[in-house]
Amino acid sequence: SFQPVTDFRPVLDRIAADIAAAPARGRPADYIPLLAEADPGRFGMAVAELDGTVYGVGDWRQPFSAQSITKVFTLALVLSMDGGALWEGVGREPSGNAFNSLVQLEYENGIPRNPFINAGALVVTDRLQTLTGDASGSLLDFLRAESGNAALDFDERVAASETAHGDRNAALAHFMASYGNIANPVPDLLDQYFRQCSVEASCADLALAAGFLARHGIRADGSTLLTRSQAKQINAVMLTCGTYDAAGEFAYRVGLPGKSGVGGGIIAVVPGRCTLCVWSPGLDRRGNSVAGVAALDRFTTLTGLSVF
Ligand code: GLU
Repeated sequence: SFQPVTDFRPVLDRIAADIAAAPARGRPADYIPLLAEADPGRFGMAVAELDGTVYGVGDWRQPFSAQSITKVFTLALVLSMDGGALWEGVGREPSGNAFNSLVQLEYENGIPRNPFINAGALVVTDRLQTLTGDASGSLLDFLRAESGNAALDFDERVAASETAHGDRNAALAHFMASYGNIANPVPDLLDQYFRQCSVEASCADLALAAGFLARHGIRADGSTLLTRSQAKQINAVMLTCGTYDAAGEFAYRVGLPGKSGVGGGIIAVVPGRCTLCVWSPGLDRRGNSVAGVAALDRFTTLTGLSVF
């Protein structure tokens, strides 16, 4: 009978060797100057088991800009506090458009297609701000607790740079506010959202922080964040919407729920087994890390671990 490979150390070494043998591909994000400076030759990967044991290779302890990966955690926090009320203001369908697209919002009355495109993430952060009074602070507390890394923090320079180049996100937020789908003042919401995007965390930090998704909603300390159904729902939305408008290709190649960010990181979940995080700043034209997707593709191929 088929048995998945569960000795991760040699698997990670082999993946790192394969990635090193292929020339660095893709280009770092350049919508803000700080991200454009990243070296596309960097590569790190971490696997966290359910009990918090973590294995890594390459630059797996190097903090990088988490960016849209944080959208998973804000979604989880809102669902944990507010049940399903969020879904009145944000959908659960892939968008097929770029992460910062404005076009669908008008047809859908200011309701974004899903919580992982920027418009949807702004709605999630708006709800989190209403629920906690400090959306980015509650995100940071959660990430620190789950990763065990009390030094995890925002990069204020990245947040300032996002603000300086934030016209598009401001447009999305104002447009949704015109439909009554944003409760907080738009400048306050943008401030929270840009701080959220600026989280600096390593592969080890993010693989550990995502552990509740593999533990069916249970936090690192054993307490319950989400019901089993809610954890399943977030994993499902990651699978269908987590990698920009390339979620079909990601599901085809990797076969796991995943969420990418323009900093070059990707988290992925093997429910009931482990969580992964890869980082390499070179992106494809959809905004996903080229080496990151390749490494996750190799991981599921070598181990046989996938949701399919
Ligand atoms: N700060 C970025 C933005 O809102 C996040 C984009 C991303 O990682 O997808 O434009």
